[in-house]
Amino acid sequence: MKKWLLAGLVLSFLQSYAQDTAHHYFLARTIGKLPFLEYGLGDDRLGGAKMGFLDSNVVLKIVDSVDAKYKVQLSRFHTAYIDKPNVERLLNQKSRPYYLTNSWKVYGDDKYDYVSVNLDEKLPYHSQQQINPSRIVVDVFGATSNSNWITQLKTAREIKNAWYEQTEDDVFRVIIELKHPQHWGHTIYYDTTGKRMVVRIKRQPAVLDIRKLRIAIDAGHGGTNSGASGLMSGVLEKEYTLKFAKELQATLKKAGINNIFMTRTKDTTLDMPERIMMLRQFSPDILISIHLNSSGVDTVQGTSTYYRYIGFRPLTTAVLNQVMSLGLKEYGNVGNFNFSLSGPTDYPNCLVEVAFLSNPADEKKILNPKFHKAVAKKILTGITEWLKTLK
Ligand SMILES: [Zn+2]
Repeated sequence: MKKWLLAGLVLSFLQSYAQDTAHHYFLARTIGKLPFLEYGLGDDRLGGAKMGFLDSNVVLKIVDSVDAKYKVQLSRFHTAYIDKPNVERLLNQKSRPYYLTNSWKVYGDDKYDYVSVNLDEKLPYHSQQQINPSRIVVDVFGATSNSNWITQLKTAREIKNAWYEQTEDDVFRVIIELKHPQHWGHTIYYDTTGKRMVVRIKRQPAVLDIRKLRIAIDAGHGGTNSGASGLMSGVLEKEYTLKFAKELQATLKKAGINNIFMTRTKDTTLDMPERIMMLRQFSPDILISIHLNSSGVDTVQGTSTYYRYIGFRPLTTAVLNQVMSLGLKEYGNVGNFNFSLSGPTDYPNCLVEVAFLSNPADEKKILNPKFHKAVAKKILTGITEWLKTLK
């Protein structure tokens, strides 16, 4: 009797445990201006490593809560984290055992190329750029293929090929091969019909003339956010990033570029989502962000440029080469950088940390108005040199 009782207790415990774990999740949808996924709980000065932004209303399976973040089960073997204010719980909605993909369309309009993929649900995704050959690879998590039809129209001009791989039972990989080696940006969203994922691809301009480009300039910091300060002079980074930015604006204007956008022209307080939304509105062909570096060690000096995605690297190396020719030391070209304005995949972007405010020799240069002009000219040359390398 006792054995049976024990066995019964163990069995009922296991049953309830199984039920508990099976239901130990809830579904949520992304909300807010710029929801983004992070790989893990890592953290540094600029936050944890970001996987990428998501559209709103993307359905996520939340399986755990860690401080200010939720843990998301993207697929059987993949998890990510998201800030709690970026999701809203969906009541009484359960996850389906599987979600299917459906037919695709590859096409273009007068401005962009598109790949659209019909899905059962607005599922989370992650994109990456590849080079040699240039490709955009988008993983759709939780999706299993039922795509047996990919319509490809001649209106698509930048897309060379599009296909998929089912890399795992529940990870569907969209692969888009581009005609040009240079990435000009892509944007992923769900269209208004609901559950159709769209990858919008920026084409390489037909004429590679800098005067035809829409160029955005971001002066770092501003308002209540002063940034670093000068070691000897105490000057504020926010004041000098604006001086460099204005000089760059003037230099580009002089070179015949009419479509220039400045995220700020005054001592304005702007947070990163605000800057990104403004940039989205302007829809630049390229973005140049300007900051001044700082280190706790006053011997550290030099100039550096930064990118997040490999497809945008060439612009940053071209600009670095030019700015370095002003006699600044090489601090380096930094990849995978977690700076917010390097996060958008929509356009090539380059962060320039001109020099170190914390180094006496660099600081002296930074304080000199002639140096602002020289840096602006070198950035312009960097952009034109980059354009010359494109095929
Ligand atoms: Zn800064």
